[in-house]
Amino acid sequence: MVIAKCKDPMCELIGEYEEFAFGGCPACGNDEYYVIKNAGKCDCGEYFLWMKTYKGASIPVDIAGIKDFMPRLFNNRVHTPHFVTCPNADKHRQKKGAIKNG
Ligand SMILES: [Zn+2]
Ligand SMILES: [Zn+2]
Repeated sequence: MVIAKCKDPMCELIGEYEEFAFGGCPACGNDEYYVIKNAGKCDCGEYFLWMKTYKGASIPVDIAGIKDFMPRLFNNRVHTPHFVTCPNADKHRQKKGAIKNG
């Protein structure tokens, strides 16, 4: 799955690439968008970005507030792990592997 984000700075819309590729941003109609590599979609419906911890583990990170989508190291002062905000976090804890890479 490929995730895209609207390039309009006033528009936070994130969606699947096909929604942007045909007809522009579904929210504002802007036809410029970033393709976000290393993105995934949680079963709660939120998109997230895979980052690496300094130990080399992959961690899903909330996309809100991220300005640079290039793959980079997770920094807990800047980034929010998705399981902190995920409404299904309890479910994930019981059922390991509920978040799958894209
Ligand atoms: Zn937009
Ligand atoms: Zn979630």
